[in-house]
Amino acid sequence: MLKMHNIRKSYRTDTIETHALRDFSLEVNEGEFVSVTGPSGSGKTTFLNIAGLLETPTGGEYRLDGEDVSNLNDHQRSRLRNEKIGFIFQGFNLIPDLNLFDNIDVPLRYRGFNGKERKKRIEKVLEQVGLSARAKHLPAQLSGGQQQRVAIARALAGEPRFLLADEPTGNLDSLMARQVMELLEFINEWGTTIVMVTHDPDLARRAHRNIQIVDGQVSDLHRTTAPAAAE
Ligand code: ADP
Ligand code: ADP
Repeated sequence: MLKMHNIRKSYRTDTIETHALRDFSLEVNEGEFVSVTGPSGSGKTTFLNIAGLLETPTGGEYRLDGEDVSNLNDHQRSRLRNEKIGFIFQGFNLIPDLNLFDNIDVPLRYRGFNGKERKKRIEKVLEQVGLSARAKHLPAQLSGGQQQRVAIARALAGEPRFLLADEPTGNLDSLMARQVMELLEFINEWGTTIVMVTHDPDLARRAHRNIQIVDGQVSDLHRTTAPAAAE
């Protein structure tokens, strides 16, 4: 479970101080699929970056699976991040001259898995995202939706407990966006907790719960609890 209490994040540039998050409190339970919406500049990406241990808060408490992770050093954060967290982004971030198999292999090599374990994981996640037949293709040979599915496979290969998605459908047409959303719903049903930032109100509604961030805070007015979208 992910639990933030009165998180603050400030950025100082010269004389200007920006409060990206203030008194930000939120709990995400094991197995939830939470969507995050809010105006541009409201703090959504800052929240995801802190949740994903890419950045540290200026103040407040962040607990991940009960462990206080508010003040970890870079090394401790990257170890926990590798162990528990997967990321997907609007821009896929695939390496253009590596085929799908090798793209998924990059973070697994970095983490020191042996060849047999890496191959097993890569074949499993390619099957999960429905792209087994494309393992030797380059990213440019795929549609945008397929490229995002590769990026999802790469995140899943680390077997993360939490999947954090920043506008994962932002570059996709509505059909491909729906397909990516359906894949995320399967992944959630298989047991991964998902937090997804999106501008798309239809996709936001399909999550178990939608959180609105306004001016760096969770807006209680917009807090709704919708039933799970899956039949
Ligand atoms: P959103 O994702 O909702 O668009 P962000 O979390 O990116 O919002 O940004 C929240 C606020 O923090 C904005 O005012 C933004 O300009 C500011 N901000 C974000 N990152 C930085 C940074 N590295 N340096 C200075 N200001 C930043
Ligand atoms: P569909 O019926 O739309 O094809 P499935 O439920 O069969 O979707 O799942 C699609 C892919 O997900 C398949 O490749 C399957 O191997 C994989 N899959 C299904 N259930 C699980 C699970 N519990 N854990 C891991 N992978 C799964």
